[in-house]
Amino acid sequence: MKILVSACLLGDNCKYNGGNNQNDELIDFLKNYEVIKVCPEVMGGLSIPRLSSEIKNGRVINTDNIDVTEYFKIGAEKTLEIAKKNNIKYAILKSNSPSCGCGKIYDGTFSHTLIDGNGITADLLSKNGIIILNENNYKKYLN
Ligand code: SF4
Repeated sequence: MKILVSACLLGDNCKYNGGNNQNDELIDFLKNYEVIKVCPEVMGGLSIPRLSSEIKNGRVINTDNIDVTEYFKIGAEKTLEIAKKNNIKYAILKSNSPSCGCGKIYDGTFSHTLIDGNGITADLLSKNGIIILNENNYKKYLN
């Protein structure tokens, strides 16, 4: 089965600060799957490194108070296109990210405060019927 995965979880240095969120347990688990790797923010045209962003009132704002929503939307659309082309049913996306987070995101104050909500890509994929998992809960749904 093909599964869509956040590239930073696989060790790609595509995080806003140029680092990654490599998760070796997940990488090992995914040996049984065909992995389709995405980084919606980079696919949307943002650079590495880039300023950190959070969602506030439905818009994505970076730490310089610049609205970067359009980049996030382009990345989400491109990710959805890839997901559809590959007939993706499950995605494992990085938790809490303004792109990839599902269920919880930061509140837009850059104070590490989580609130209920979805990142831009996770939300679009979910609305298109894809089940969004993260690095903490995937084992409950996949084996
Ligand atoms: Fe990771 Fe997603 Fe952020 Fe890219 S957009 S760095 S894949 S959390």
